[in-house]
Amino acid sequence: SGVFASNGGMKMEKTLAMIKPDGLRGNYTERIKGAIVESGFRILEERIVELDEDRASRFYAEHSSRSFFPNLVKYMTSGPVCIMVLEKQNAIADWRALIGPTDSVKAKATHPNSIRAMCGLDSEKNCVHGSDSLLSAQREISFFFEEETGEMVGNHDEL
Ligand code: GDP
Ligand code: MG
Repeated sequence: SGVFASNGGMKMEKTLAMIKPDGLRGNYTERIKGAIVESGFRILEERIVELDEDRASRFYAEHSSRSFFPNLVKYMTSGPVCIMVLEKQNAIADWRALIGPTDSVKAKATHPNSIRAMCGLDSEKNCVHGSDSLLSAQREISFFFEEETGEMVGNHDEL
């Protein structure tokens, strides 16, 4: 019947993925995009941008009181990043699962096939970002992209 979805009830979702500066510097982009496509995500948008200090601070505003925040902002402004909007059923949780735990050292021990295990270095330089909830995904996608048109918003230096 048409009442129950045949996908086990999972919703089509969009999430924001980012390859951080260390990921671009390490030439992991093609490998990461390969993993994305193999895992069934569609890449709806993709841009290479550079975040300035203000933009990086606002993106990570939830962490502004943490001791690692100044270093986090330095890291995120140390080079270009690749931002992508990914779509699939259950995209938000599935992308978080694919990238693995925040700390790449722990990821190598517990989730060796995760992107952070394969490409990241430590608890800061972990190569990739993923939205952690539906609300974050909506906030982060509109942080970079105008809904509907997919046009960039804000004062990014698009490369
Ligand atoms: P995520 O959602 O898994 O990316 O992790 P969080 O939202 O907790 O943290 C945001 C980002 O801040 C992480 O991806 C790391 O780049 C950095 N970060 C998190 N925790 C630490 C930490 O304990 N030390 C340092 N230096 N950086 C951290
Ligand atoms: Mg987070």
